[in-house]
Amino acid sequence: MTDTRAVRTRTRGTRVRRPANSLVTDAIHPDAAVPAADPAVLDIAALDSEMNVATELLLRARDVVLVAHIHPDADALGSALALGMGLARRGTPVAVSFAEPLAIPESLRNLPGGHLVVRPDQLPENPDLLVSLDVGSVERLGSLARLLDTCRQSLVIDHHPSNTRFGQFHLVDASAEATVVLVARLLDRLGIPIDRQIADNLYAGLATDTGHFRHADSAAHQLAARLIDAGVRPAEVMFPITESHPFDWLGMLSDVLGGAVLDRDAARGQGLVYTVIDDVTRGGLRPEELDSVIDILRTAQEAAVAAVLKQTDEHSWQVSLRSRDGIDVAAVAGALGGGGHTRAAGFTHHGRPSLAIDALRAVLAG
Ligand code: AMP
Ligand code: MN
Ligand code: MN
Repeated sequence: MTDTRAVRTRTRGTRVRRPANSLVTDAIHPDAAVPAADPAVLDIAALDSEMNVATELLLRARDVVLVAHIHPDADALGSALALGMGLARRGTPVAVSFAEPLAIPESLRNLPGGHLVVRPDQLPENPDLLVSLDVGSVERLGSLARLLDTCRQSLVIDHHPSNTRFGQFHLVDASAEATVVLVARLLDRLGIPIDRQIADNLYAGLATDTGHFRHADSAAHQLAARLIDAGVRPAEVMFPITESHPFDWLGMLSDVLGGAVLDRDAARGQGLVYTVIDDVTRGGLRPEELDSVIDILRTAQEAAVAAVLKQTDEHSWQVSLRSRDGIDVAAVAGALGGGGHTRAAGFTHHGRPSLAIDALRAVLAG
């Protein structure tokens, strides 16, 4: 770095002034990124140093593999594609991947940069830098966790409060609404312009993780405005992601919502509403159709917690949780082996679905 101008860094609304060339030395050491003791309580200085280390790692990497979590959503894939496209424009060889499923989920296929996506079995086994995006724990990497051992360096970029700080270097900010917020900051640090294609990816992740801006602060709205100024058309980007389902979805919704159960006594009287989607009810519908159910279920006024159990194989279930009124479902999911955010979390259950509900009731009562 020869640029000695001062750069401005924005961290949680606080401006920090530092010279652009005072990042890290050649000998990058993991200690440079030592986390705050409680990842939910952020140390602004530590975060700024994490941002510096992440920037430097990306600037120096000879090649980069960017990995989203299994069954990626718009925040995970949008983050990987936005950063991947930005790095590719600087001339860095990049590949984007995720362990499952083998193809990009249909609702995310319109995101620009899909050409960067490589099947997990065709990735380079020894990337110079492995970057995971929106991945809270090593389990969420699926089979691609193997790359943590074979890459030269690894960087975890994430916003889950439950992040386990796996891997070598971290840019983890639980106050960020979405991982794309961190990617936007990184692109600015790297001096990579946010063009329309990158902006589409960032917008999709931001809109998804903020519940269409219901849980977005003014900085997130300002980022959205900047992305729209870069050319994003919100309705067009979001249409395949949240506004479009096959006709059979309506029949499935009717069955699944009709079978919903309200337990008013659960969660110490704040109420739990839940429903189960087994393979028979699902029919041939996509994961996108199943994922939409929780957003309807959680509107039940009598319940502060909503749960949808989705069958993934004969004895396995993916449980989605949503909450309001101060109930922390990240902690609930954590107690059941999963993770997530305060108001949106999940866990995996092996066994009869009724046992998952029993376990959930027990944790909510605790
Ligand atoms: P979902 O209900 O699938 O939209 O997930 C909501 C949140 O919970 C996301 O932030 C996920 O990262 C997290 N999450 C969902 N399922 C799991 C799981 N089995 N293990 C860890 N985190 C999960
Ligand atoms: Mn995600
Ligand atoms: Mn996210």
